Amino acid sequence: MEKVIDEKVQGNTLTLEARTANSRKLYIESYGCAMNFSDSEIVASILADQGYNTTNALEDADLVLVNTCSIRDKAEQTVRKRLEKYNAVKRTKNPKMKVGVLGCMAERLKEKFLEEEKIVDLVVGPDAYKDIPNLLKEVEEGRDAVNVILSKEETYGDISPVRLGGNGITAFVSITRGCDNMCTFCVVPFTRGRERSRDPQSILQEIDDLAEKNYKEITLLGQNVDSYLWYGGGLKKDFKNASDMQKATATDFAQLLDMAAKAHPEMRIRFSTSNPQDMHEEVLHVVAKHKNICNHIHLPVQSGSTRILKEMNRQHTREEYMKLIDRIREIIPGCAISQDMIVGFPTETEEDHQATLGLMEYVKYDFGYMYKYSERPGTNAARKLEDDVPEETKSRRLTEIVDLQQKHSAIRTASFLGKTVSVLIEKESKKNKDEWSGRTEHNNVAVFPKKNYKAGDFVNVKITDCTTATLIGEAVELS
Ligand code: SF4
Repeated sequence: MEKVIDEKVQGNTLTLEARTANSRKLYIESYGCAMNFSDSEIVASILADQGYNTTNALEDADLVLVNTCSIRDKAEQTVRKRLEKYNAVKRTKNPKMKVGVLGCMAERLKEKFLEEEKIVDLVVGPDAYKDIPNLLKEVEEGRDAVNVILSKEETYGDISPVRLGGNGITAFVSITRGCDNMCTFCVVPFTRGRERSRDPQSILQEIDDLAEKNYKEITLLGQNVDSYLWYGGGLKKDFKNASDMQKATATDFAQLLDMAAKAHPEMRIRFSTSNPQDMHEEVLHVVAKHKNICNHIHLPVQSGSTRILKEMNRQHTREEYMKLIDRIREIIPGCAISQDMIVGFPTETEEDHQATLGLMEYVKYDFGYMYKYSERPGTNAARKLEDDVPEETKSRRLTEIVDLQQKHSAIRTASFLGKTVSVLIEKESKKNKDEWSGRTEHNNVAVFPKKNYKAGDFVNVKITDCTTATLIGEAVELS
């Protein structure tokens, strides 16, 4: 469908009315990190201007897109299983459907994806989504289409995301793309390219839009939010030299967070993912200053052994990480902290593993994401280090850290017994339809009887019971 009918165009996108008239159907699935889910909303917006509206019915779709993750081999196997499913539907119910793969696995495999998976018509890397309309034309003309060029500039800051499957209450707002850190186990720098930060004005604009649509919480998103740094604005002639101009016009993460919190004091603000080697104390002071910034920091560490951190090319030691944890707790008392941990990294000894358990004992994280090392093709670890920790040792160590995390999570949730916390209602409780489920600022899930409250309300809940992961309580009116 042509895109040139003026009254239907607002800025460079179709108006909502024009979009509702779209006739083509897009089925889009996302896997992996929040960045992928946020990117799928960008893709849905780009395709809405090409006449596509989203559908949840695979058999009705003209175009099926899967946004893929490559962080572990298991994630890629999941995608291959989905492609088999699409193949079955295409053969039996929907022969016209075209299939495309997006995201990190598309970037990692490139043209090889077409050879390995015959159902795939389209392969698009994370920086090439604006090219999808052109690539679809190639597919319509019977050619396979691939664009996996990584960009140093692209932030999609000029695209208004189409919120997919959301609850109309919480939303992701991406602020940076890519990563320059080159951790030796990580595929992200190869699949998402160099770090680049989005113009703060376009970020604040997107938050304004969400506030207008009555969203109650946003998460500022990036592979590494702490390296957010925007240079821009101001005329060269006003400054002695480029670096003066950069210094004068730079916006770092602490400033961006401060601006967002000030602009929307009623909006709850989260951010993810932080990085211990790039985090500045100013960020902690900004979190402490604003009531609407959640007291929760997701601070991946990956190992508690300085020797392994070195092998991982993580630019900090165990001791430096513990000092940062201490500063977080001094500046933001009661701040919830969560972790990412990898067990079984090449050369990891029992002593290294004990160091990880020791670090967890020191921090007593609120919760965490823990995985066995999965060798990723093309990474420095895969090229230089043998994946030498036996599988059963990896499994035993994973069980030990998961058990320890469970114990600490139980201590953390129990610390809320008898306290009253503010909960943002997101949906009905999975276990009990007479109860609401929402999250506290510490990112704990809380459930409580519905009474007259509704989704999107902030409710004061007195915690009367808890499990390892969930707070249980009663809504109370504070006098
Ligand atoms: S900081 Fe390290 S682990 Fe995180 S995305 Fe960047 S390279 Fe990967």
